[in-house]
Amino acid sequence: MSEKHTFKSELQQVLHIITHSLYSHKEIFLRELISNASDAIDKVRFNSLQNEHLLEGDRDFRIRLAVDREARTLTVSDNGVGMDHDAIVDNLGTIAKSGTKAFLESLKAADAAARPGLIGQFGVGFYSAFMVADRVTVLSRAAGSSQAVRWESDGLGEFTVEPAERAGRGTDVILHLKEDEKEFLESWRLRAIVKQFSDFIEHPVVMDVEKGEGEDRKVEEETLNSRKALWLRGKTDVTEEEHNAFYRQISGDFEDPAKVIHYAAEGALEFRALLYIPRRKSWDLQFAEPKVGPKLYVNRVQIMDHCEALLPPYLRFVKGVVDCSDLPLNVSRELLQHNPLLERIQKSLVKNVFQALTDLRTSDPEAYRTFFSELGPILKEGLARDYANREQIADLLLFESLRTEPGKTTTLAEYQAAMPEAQKDIYWLAGEDRAVLEPSPSLEAFRRKGWDVLLLTDPIDAFVFPGLADFKGTPLKAADRHQPELEPEEKALAEEAQAAFKGLLDALKGRFKGVKDVRLSQNLVESASRLAADDDALDPHMERLLQKLGQ
Ligand code: ADP
Ligand code: MG
Repeated sequence: MSEKHTFKSELQQVLHIITHSLYSHKEIFLRELISNASDAIDKVRFNSLQNEHLLEGDRDFRIRLAVDREARTLTVSDNGVGMDHDAIVDNLGTIAKSGTKAFLESLKAADAAARPGLIGQFGVGFYSAFMVADRVTVLSRAAGSSQAVRWESDGLGEFTVEPAERAGRGTDVILHLKEDEKEFLESWRLRAIVKQFSDFIEHPVVMDVEKGEGEDRKVEEETLNSRKALWLRGKTDVTEEEHNAFYRQISGDFEDPAKVIHYAAEGALEFRALLYIPRRKSWDLQFAEPKVGPKLYVNRVQIMDHCEALLPPYLRFVKGVVDCSDLPLNVSRELLQHNPLLERIQKSLVKNVFQALTDLRTSDPEAYRTFFSELGPILKEGLARDYANREQIADLLLFESLRTEPGKTTTLAEYQAAMPEAQKDIYWLAGEDRAVLEPSPSLEAFRRKGWDVLLLTDPIDAFVFPGLADFKGTPLKAADRHQPELEPEEKALAEEAQAAFKGLLDALKGRFKGVKDVRLSQNLVESASRLAADDDALDPHMERLLQKLGQ
């Protein structure tokens, strides 16, 4: 009664790439399988909160590694939620996942060293088993069912599914290791990999190992991971190495975080937060549907892998854990959506993220600049989306300006502080890059007066800045439609000139298609003329961006 299925074609490509081009860091297959096992245990534990019978008395959650030297197999087992026939067909082979295409695209773009990190970020982790195995058997029994199912594939294009037997719920992933991957039968090797990639997994990862010599020789079960819940410890009790290792584990990042946020809120609302700000934009932020929000725990029990209610989308680059003891353990997903408790936690997290970014800017300006050039565009979405915090967000932005050297930056607060008395507004000009903006005739009057102008070159700037009316009481204005006010004597001269040139201006009007009006400019020194936008017209740079997008 064995059925044959073919892998969805995109998946076939993924498999091909995984097995043929991801040779470095092959050992991460174990991280992926352990992470799946751990997810499966979290799921059954979560489901059992509503239905205790699912566990059938087995609450001894664990992930087991077992090797068989003769058969050259490595097995990763769990007593998690398991899969029935339909789930196994859906999850391991036929359904094209949203991330698959994006994964392929980003793989092409990534350099070899970054590729292994992508596997976990894109939800194609299971298939990494085929990096080391030429055949994979999955034996699984769903919690609450008595029927098990066997899935098997050589990773080339087809898989089979058939009914099977398994004692108890859970899943065994059996890797028939390739001839030259025997190292993954060695306990020292497995121990080291677990330590490196899965040390903070909450559930014990165990393995039987032979201990002692001769007469004393015996087999003992060893727990390979330390299962440390760093967020439950005091801020000063966690070392930088532990933070780095934990961050890498939950993010899949190969770099250390730029900043750690670790605190316990006490009083009316009690929770612990351990958040990390990355140095760079991770691949999932660029190509896949990003997973927003930190993990949510209730008293050490993981409820959700990504709790969207805990952070706004414009802070989706922040990774970490929030553990709240005030939430009921059997909280449902629906309840989590508009929960006043979570809203208060979110407020606190957002405040702390802003503070951490401010600290980073002072303590390590270089790291902040890198962070900002990578993740600033995402942060800026908050200017348009989070009205209440827009001033705080604006405070975190870095800009080049007329006064900064190329590559150096200023902030709104610095700009504001340096404004001469006569200048009442903050001016900005948006465009593709500094080289395009600098020669703009719109800047002449500002240069002459010695007023600074922010040069906005990030595409999102043209979308969010027109909506930003002021910064701490100082209005923000676009330099191409608001020129500095003239001094009284300049004004008189200008009026005279306007009268003198009336004939010429009238003659010019109507000669250029698309030009609404021709005026004498008081601000130009070097250029003969400039195009000015109407007050109610689209920003010209924005107009070009929209044209590019085909609007
Ligand atoms: P992801 O874990 O990101 O969803 P994977 O490729 O690692 O992607 O796994 C695909 C899916 O297969 C999982 O989402 C899960 O539904 C299922 N799965 C994999 N391993 C197990 C397991 N040990 N127990 C139960 N389900 C599993
Ligand atoms: Mg996975």
